[in-house]
Amino acid sequence: MSLADVRHWVFDMDGTLTVAVHDFAAIRVALAIPPEDDILTHLAALPADEAAAKHAWLLEHERDLALGSQPAVGAVELVRDLAGRGYRLGILTRNARELAHVTLEAIGLADCFALEDVLGRDDAPPKPHPGGLLKLAEAWKVPASEMVMVGDYRFDLDCGRAAGARTVLVNLPDNPWPELTDWHAADCVALRRMLSA
Ligand SMILES: [Mg+2]
Repeated sequence: MSLADVRHWVFDMDGTLTVAVHDFAAIRVALAIPPEDDILTHLAALPADEAAAKHAWLLEHERDLALGSQPAVGAVELVRDLAGRGYRLGILTRNARELAHVTLEAIGLADCFALEDVLGRDDAPPKPHPGGLLKLAEAWKVPASEMVMVGDYRFDLDCGRAAGARTVLVNLPDNPWPELTDWHAADCVALRRMLSA
């Protein structure tokens, strides 16, 4: 199967369609999360009151980032190309769903994604869990093997693999995880070029 034959595309958002701006180290310091802990996993294990307060802080912090989002190089052209081909497009992000919408508006891609195909941390277990991808597969009535998960981090690749989907790593010059990757592109310009290869 060549990449151009894949008609169902799911994108990570932050760092994939946008220029990465999250300072996760600073977020961990602000929320008293140990450096080695996964942020969402850590919050999920806290007492309800503390978890709610920290989730609220995180949401406000991320809202500011979302409003100022910049598209990654070539991301707008890539997504518009795919949408123009009539392909089905979704978002699977560890960010909040409402902030995913804010971000897509900010980078000018909101019209390329059906509202119900944008899944945030409120809608599915966070990646690397494959739940969100499988949810889209079910909604789209396609086997996961006919979908591709595009992301900039190993959680995206692990999620794709666990769901049985194809995987694309983008926005890294080198690929640290070749065993998890079906296609690798240094940026979205190169990825779009691979569609016509
Ligand atoms: Mg990312």
